[in-house]
Amino acid sequence: MPLALAATAGVRPTAELIARYDGRAPRYTSYPPATQFSAQVDAETYALWLRDLPVEQAVSLYVHIPFCARLCWYCGCNTRAVNRHEPVGDYVRLLLNEIALLGAALPGRLPVGAIHFGGGTPNMLSTGEIDAIFDRLGEVFALTADVDVAVEMDPAVLTRDWVRAAARRGMNRASLGVQNLTPEVQAAVNRRDTFEHIADCVAWLREARIGSINIDLMYGLPHQTTANTLSTLDQLLPLRPERLALFGYAHVPWMKSHQQLIDEAALPDAQARLDQSETAAERLAAEGYVRIGLDHFALPEDPMAKAQAAGTLRRNFQGYTTDPAVTLLGMGASAIGCLPQGFVQNAAHELTWRAAVKEGRLPIARGVAVDAEDRFRAEIIERLMCDFHVDLAAVCARHGRALSDLAEDVSRLAPFIADGLAQVRGARVEVLPAGQLLARSIAAVFDAYFSAESQRHARAI
Ligand code: SF4
Repeated sequence: MPLALAATAGVRPTAELIARYDGRAPRYTSYPPATQFSAQVDAETYALWLRDLPVEQAVSLYVHIPFCARLCWYCGCNTRAVNRHEPVGDYVRLLLNEIALLGAALPGRLPVGAIHFGGGTPNMLSTGEIDAIFDRLGEVFALTADVDVAVEMDPAVLTRDWVRAAARRGMNRASLGVQNLTPEVQAAVNRRDTFEHIADCVAWLREARIGSINIDLMYGLPHQTTANTLSTLDQLLPLRPERLALFGYAHVPWMKSHQQLIDEAALPDAQARLDQSETAAERLAAEGYVRIGLDHFALPEDPMAKAQAAGTLRRNFQGYTTDPAVTLLGMGASAIGCLPQGFVQNAAHELTWRAAVKEGRLPIARGVAVDAEDRFRAEIIERLMCDFHVDLAAVCARHGRALSDLAEDVSRLAPFIADGLAQVRGARVEVLPAGQLLARSIAAVFDAYFSAESQRHARAI
C-alpha cells in the first residue's frame, strides 16, 4: 500500500483550497454519521440494548430542552420559540415519564458520571422543574456527589436566582451562547445582548462557584467582519472563560426555514469567513488559549486542553468532550444516545415524541447498529478529528486488522498531500496545520459511507 506519500511545501489554507475540498463532509460527531440512522433501529431494539448495559459502568446523560425565549435566525438546533411557560411545563411532565420508562428498561440503577442539559435553552426551565428533573434522575440512576453537570444557557433569559438554583443541584459547568456582540450583526440574526449583561451572567456563575465557563462564538454571520469579531473578543477575553468555541455559521435555509430570514447578501464570502476564523484563533492563541480540534479553545490548565495533550479527547454529539463514558443516554425530543451496540435518536418532532411517551413507549425514531468495521473506522476518524493525526498501525492492531485493509483509503489522501494539507509517514497520517480546517474532509477519506457528491451536509468549515 502507498504508505509513504511525501507532502509538498507548506501551503496556507486559502479560500480556493477550501472551496476545492469543501466536500460537504459530515461533522463526525458520530460514526457512522447521523445520515446513516434509519427506522430499522426502533424502541424494541433500544430496549434490548439497554437491558444489556453493564450495571457497574458509569453512563452519561443528555437532556434536551427544545424551547427558547427567542428564535435566533442562524440557529441549527432542534428548538422553538415560546412566549408562555405552559408548553415547557407540559414537556417537563412528559420528560419525567420518559426518564421513568428508561429506568424500567435498564438492568439496574446505573451510576452516572456526567449530565449535559442542552437545547434550546435549558435555563427556560423553572427552578421547580430543575428540581423535579434531578429528583427523577436520582430515582432512576445512582447520581454520585461528584457528577459533572453541564448546562447550555441563553444569557437573554438567565437570572442570578436561576444560576443559584442550578448550582445547588450540582451544575458545575456552564456554556453561554454569545456569538457576536456587534449590534448590526445581532440585529441581522434577531439577538440583542449587551456586553454588560454577559459580564453580569459570568459574575453570577463565578459567584455560584461554577469553575468551568464556556462562551460560544460564531464566524460567518451576516455583517460579520474580522474587525467586529476581534472587538467581540476584546470585550469578552477579560472575563477569562475557561473555554471558548468558535463555530462557522452553516447557511442551510433549505433545511432550516427560519434561516431564510437572513439576508444572504450580507453574508461574508469564503475568504472573509476564513479571515474571521483564523484571525480570532491567532488572537486566542496570543491570549494563552490552546486550540482544541477544529473549533474549541481552552486555557492550558483546563481538562479539555489536558485531554488533547494526552490524546484522550473525544468527540460526541456535543462536539469535543473529555467525557470518557462509553454510553450516553439521551432524553427529550430529538436527543441522541450512544450505546456500545449503536446509536439511537428520539423522535425529533415534539408531537411524535409526546405521543410515544404518553403511550408508554420509549420515543425512539431511528438509529444505527454498529459493527466491527464501523468501530474500526470510527476510531480512525475520531483520532483525526481530535488529534489531527492517527497511527493506523496501532488502530489496526487494536482491531485485529491488517494495514493493507486501508490501502484504498490512504490512496484517497493523495490530493490533500499534494496540496500540503496532510502527510503520511509510515503508518502515521497527519493533518498539517494548513489542512486542519479541512479535517472533516480529510477524515471522510476513511468513511465507508461518505459520497463526495452528497449534498446533505453543511459546508466543511
Ligand atoms: S437561544 Fe440558542 S438554541 Fe435558542 S434559537 Fe438562539 S441559538 Fe438557537
